[in-house]
Amino acid sequence: MDIFKSTESEVRVYSRAFPVIFNRAKNAHLYTEDGKEYLDFLAGAGSLNYGHNNDTLKRALLEYIEADGVSQGLDLFTTAKHDFMEAYKTYILEPRGLDYKMQFTGPTGTNCVEAALKLARKVKGRTGIISFTNGFHGVTMGAVAATGNQHHRGGVGVPLSSVDFMFYDGYLGDDVDTLAIMDKVLSDNSSGIELPAAVIVEAVQGEGGLNAARSEWLKGLEQLCRKHDILLIVDDIQAGNGRTGEFFSFEFAGIKPDIVTVSKSLSGYGLPMALVLFKPELDVWDPGEHNGTFRGNNMAFITARAAIEHYWKDDAFANEVKAKSKVLGDALQAICDKYPGQFRLKGRGMMRGIEARNPDLTGPITRRAFEHGLIIETSGPNDEVIKCLMPLTTSEDDLKKGVSLLARSVDEILQEGVSEAS
Ligand code: PLP
Repeated sequence: MDIFKSTESEVRVYSRAFPVIFNRAKNAHLYTEDGKEYLDFLAGAGSLNYGHNNDTLKRALLEYIEADGVSQGLDLFTTAKHDFMEAYKTYILEPRGLDYKMQFTGPTGTNCVEAALKLARKVKGRTGIISFTNGFHGVTMGAVAATGNQHHRGGVGVPLSSVDFMFYDGYLGDDVDTLAIMDKVLSDNSSGIELPAAVIVEAVQGEGGLNAARSEWLKGLEQLCRKHDILLIVDDIQAGNGRTGEFFSFEFAGIKPDIVTVSKSLSGYGLPMALVLFKPELDVWDPGEHNGTFRGNNMAFITARAAIEHYWKDDAFANEVKAKSKVLGDALQAICDKYPGQFRLKGRGMMRGIEARNPDLTGPITRRAFEHGLIIETSGPNDEVIKCLMPLTTSEDDLKKGVSLLARSVDEILQEGVSEAS
């Protein structure tokens, strides 16, 4: 433990909440060096939708390594990339009527957001971007400018510009039509808001507190973008890859974004990989204009393809996720019902959580949950939402067990009283 504390930068964060040393993991379980087992409801911050060390993915990866397959391929043509692209096109894009080109960027979410913003600006010849309250898009300069959270914005050290923020669905209460406000300012040449190149939005705001946009709102946003000649970027980095019970989080709204950013669970194995999808007519890049050494993580291509072919050839897995979403939602609702007015259910699909009216409660509750063997994090501007982001492959028993550990922690902290808890 000493080397972490003495030598690893103060910037570390998750290890502060879970200060143990892990050395093994399987599906929804993490194990420490001294043999303690934890249920993992954090799952690599949503990058392990198919669980830790998924056997199908692992087999494909081991066979590839054993055969001396190319591991780092820049953006060279490789068999691994070819096969991934074929699978993604055949089983993900075509069945959904999506005609997109694929851009492999540096392998992090924030890097593909940078690429999406740059591309939109180049296509439209405008500098502005509209993002939404509580949106989170990463921490590199362009992406963090589109991120609402002050803590992350403050880390940059220079002024952030060229992004205006509008109100997300529900931000001003259920009765306020936030799109009407946006339409008004975009239609008024004295509003002070310049016509942007693009709007960037999450269908469910992961870091921003599990705010889930309604399908009518997303549809309305798409129409608004068309009306004002603005590109629509959906950031599906956290909510995508099956998390909501559909492959893309925006499918339920029947919209077709111009640009989609995908990362986190794309490789399925926790291997870094990121992808920007965009309509073919937007492909105005010059060769190498958004470059990067690690745009060809071929091991990630292998596991990503295995995940698609194993889980997304038909509806069986999506239906399983929908069924588990119901189990999860019901179990979390039971916690809310037990403490009326204190908690409310947030999110959609298997991206669910409970928001505490008193944000001072969530830290003590998640700390207590960790003591009981559950790894779970908070989100939202004041960390007021306890967020469940377990693998989609978590068994129903483990799902119920994890939520019951959470319920027990809530009971204990409330019984002990907020003053001791905070
Ligand atoms: N966009 C969304 C919606 C995210 O949730 C995240 C990370 O949590 C990012 C972008 C940034 O991804 P990364 O941390 O891989 O840079």
